[in-house]
Amino acid sequence: MERLIYMTKTDCLFCRIIQGEIPSQKVYEDQLVYAFHDIHPQAPTHILIIPKKHIATNLDITETDKDVIGYMFLVANKLAKQEKIDSSGFRAVMNCNRDAGQAVYHIHLHLLGGRKMSWPPG
Ligand code: 5GP
Ligand code: ZN
Repeated sequence: MERLIYMTKTDCLFCRIIQGEIPSQKVYEDQLVYAFHDIHPQAPTHILIIPKKHIATNLDITETDKDVIGYMFLVANKLAKQEKIDSSGFRAVMNCNRDAGQAVYHIHLHLLGGRKMSWPPG
């Protein structure tokens, strides 16, 4: 898959998905967050949970964002139960910048499960 980098809100892939300008397989939505299936799943369950507010990277999280960041993990727990991967286990990860492999510059919590995962990550 082509790895694209979107740097601004007006040209942000995930902002456009939230707006419905680009189709996605929605799993959950409320006032603060939007969750949808990853287009290129790396596990039987691979959901992305994103804040509706455009935040480019983990390093751009501010004091005012701390509630929504915690809330993203609560939504991940809810969706893990919904997907029945809670007791088997799951990974909830955010990649920041180049070495972590961040490709979309609107923060997203990956919820991965449904298979055994190795550690350390590749
Ligand atoms: P990152 O590498 O930035 O942590 O993760 C970006 C994720 O977004 C990747 O897992 C990739 O498959 C997913 N992704 C990229 N473009 C799209 C898209 O247009 N739709 C969906 N549903 N997922 C996407
Ligand atoms: Zn965005």
